[in-house]
Amino acid sequence: PVTDQAFVTLGTNDIYCQGALVLGKSLRNHKTTRQLVVMITSQVSSRMRAVLSNIFDEVIEVDILDSADSVHLALMKRPELGITFTKFQCWTLTRYTKCVYMDADTIVLCNIDELFDRDEFSAAPDSGWPDCFNSGVFVFRPSLETFHKLLQFAEIHGSFDGGDQGLLNSFFSNWATTDISKHLPFIYNLSISSVYTYKPAFLQFGSEAKVVHFLGTPKPWNCKYNPQTRWIVEDESLSGNEHLSYLVLWWEIYISDILPLLT
Ligand code: UDP
Ligand code: MN
Repeated sequence: PVTDQAFVTLGTNDIYCQGALVLGKSLRNHKTTRQLVVMITSQVSSRMRAVLSNIFDEVIEVDILDSADSVHLALMKRPELGITFTKFQCWTLTRYTKCVYMDADTIVLCNIDELFDRDEFSAAPDSGWPDCFNSGVFVFRPSLETFHKLLQFAEIHGSFDGGDQGLLNSFFSNWATTDISKHLPFIYNLSISSVYTYKPAFLQFGSEAKVVHFLGTPKPWNCKYNPQTRWIVEDESLSGNEHLSYLVLWWEIYISDILPLLT
């Protein structure tokens, strides 16, 4: 195993931690050689922490409010950015030299350790505005200097979308034009909506997908799953069999590998 590189995710509450568990298990199932790290906050229950430690090498509690003055100031102006700042805590994991951050609403379909060949800051295009990257999957180098620069930047400029993605796109603003090797292929962050917004492309390339991102709503854990039919109980907001089959995949991991740990 490679001990100085890690996949990192974030779960600020027990609900999102369910996603982190499925993601972590999917990485294990595909035999990653990297460390698995989950960042949590004080809201996460002690029972959930114990379950997380079954799958993750490290369960690290991080503060939503950091002691740095810049964070307090920024939070006073934009309190809803609290969760956003929590994601930036991944830059403080300086015991690792390189990491891949993944949202708790992603799963891997195969081994993706080759992402560690990429450098900071690498990410895939966002399906809504492809000159912006999507911040659900990115390669980065932990650095306290970068962490503090990000917080300063947040304080001065805020985030154009109110979330971490807007801020990261402004901070790493040369991503779109400077170095094509920092553009991860879309198959490393296949947003679930692309399955129907550009169906011909999905039919052509979808079988190569490596990471599925359940961007937006509903999140997999909010869908209803019928274990008898092994299918999602359909809802108007869900469309298309391919979309549903990814949700089924999430639920299969959840039921077979996660639920037994939780009960
Ligand atoms: N997150 C969290 N708690 C929250 C909201 C978000 O831990 O209350 C984390 C979680 O890792 C999540 C990520 O922040 O995957 C980004 O949020 P989300 O995936 O909901 O945003 P989307 O990808 O749908 O824009
Ligand atoms: Mn997400």
